[in-house]
Amino acid sequence: MSESDCIFCKIARGEMDAEVVHDEDDVLAFNDRNSKAPVHVLVIPRQHVTNLEEIGDLPDAVMKRLFEVASAVAEKLGVTEGGYAVRVNNGRDAGQEVFHLHLHVMGGRKLGMP
Ligand code: AMP
Ligand code: ZN
Repeated sequence: MSESDCIFCKIARGEMDAEVVHDEDDVLAFNDRNSKAPVHVLVIPRQHVTNLEEIGDLPDAVMKRLFEVASAVAEKLGVTEGGYAVRVNNGRDAGQEVFHLHLHVMGGRKLGMP
């Protein structure tokens, strides 16, 4: 998957629409188009990395920022008190569909392990 074909790179470049909930230099958060919970947001680095095996390519500050933005989005959307799940589907057996690293932030209902 090249960056020019990657749908999350296209969203990050503003070439594809998304319901953005948080936008900053290195990190973007937008609603999952097929939400599986009342709150279901994807948090991505603007830089293309496929999955956790490429995490070393991301600056440490961006890696930290992904989780800070996940927390900020949860606060903004009102699920901090009730709690929320932050999930990475990494690779085929986890059902990864989009090969641009992203955090799922899900809340607003009881969430169990799969
Ligand atoms: P996964 O790769 O398994 O972590 O899942 C990718 C997620 O991206 C799925 O939950 C999709 O519903 C979501 N998704 C795919 N394309 C888009 C898009 N263009 N805008 C928003 N969400 C998307
Ligand atoms: Zn990408």
